[in-house]
Amino acid sequence: PLTARDFQSSQINDWCPGCGDHGILRSLENALASLECSPDQVAVFGGIGCSGKTPYYLNSYGVHTLHGRLLPYATGAKLANPDLTVIAVGGDGDGLSIGAGHFVNAGRRNLDMTYILFNNGVYGLTKGQASPTLRQGEQTRSMPQGNMQTHLNPLLLALASGYTWVGRGYSYDVKLLTRLIVEAVRHPGIAFLDVLQPCPVYNNLQTREWYGERIYSLQAEGHDAVISDAGDEEGNRKKGEEAMNRAREWGDRIPLGVLYQTRLPTYEEQVPSLQAGPLATREVQPLTADEIASLQAELV
Ligand code: SF4
Repeated sequence: PLTARDFQSSQINDWCPGCGDHGILRSLENALASLECSPDQVAVFGGIGCSGKTPYYLNSYGVHTLHGRLLPYATGAKLANPDLTVIAVGGDGDGLSIGAGHFVNAGRRNLDMTYILFNNGVYGLTKGQASPTLRQGEQTRSMPQGNMQTHLNPLLLALASGYTWVGRGYSYDVKLLTRLIVEAVRHPGIAFLDVLQPCPVYNNLQTREWYGERIYSLQAEGHDAVISDAGDEEGNRKKGEEAMNRAREWGDRIPLGVLYQTRLPTYEEQVPSLQAGPLATREVQPLTADEIASLQAELV
């Protein structure tokens, strides 16, 4: 059996002491071990920012991609080899500003992969400017004035974009986060996991203490996230609305757990050319001169 240690790399980790990123990394290692994913069957794609370094710190295949482009990379890998467990990891600045178009369209596409958002409200790598999840008017340690822009709600955006599994974890609750990553990876379709990740260096507002007074478990309160395929249309509509209502909660109460889960055909299941097996492992058949000439006649 695999253990978390099998997913630890020998790279030196330079995240700040106390950063929430450490808890997410531990949870990923635990989750992949309990899923019994062999490291050579896992591909992790990081964006730009502190969280973008995650692929270096995990013993698996991985790419530190371009700013906001982790989802196109992950999409390409999944299409080339649907047998891979593909996980995209990136910050809220990366995924909800420059990467917002990819975030929305990955939801519509419903490939069987997982997107984990390291959500800390700031651009930590570049000294703590406001990111898209920081509320308007909030002023963190390194900002000269309050945030002028309104915020984006990643859970609401994920629900509106068609993600078929939507949840939220907290980086200091490794047990819950491990369980949520396992569920997200097991879900057949695109899973979005928002992780509240305190940045103790630059975000002095959303701290461990601040979250500690507000977070609660959705499942402990009986929230039923699963959309049934048994045809209860009215019940499913209410569950969708309830997921939206819970996603709006912030301030006094902040929900953790699975908000929404449904089973729809994945992109891979619908692409005819993928039904014969992964492109990555299929033998390449060179075209004959006659076949090339015939193609040219048809297309040129
Ligand atoms: Fe973590 Fe913030 Fe340090 Fe980046 S700057 S490693 S997010 S504590």
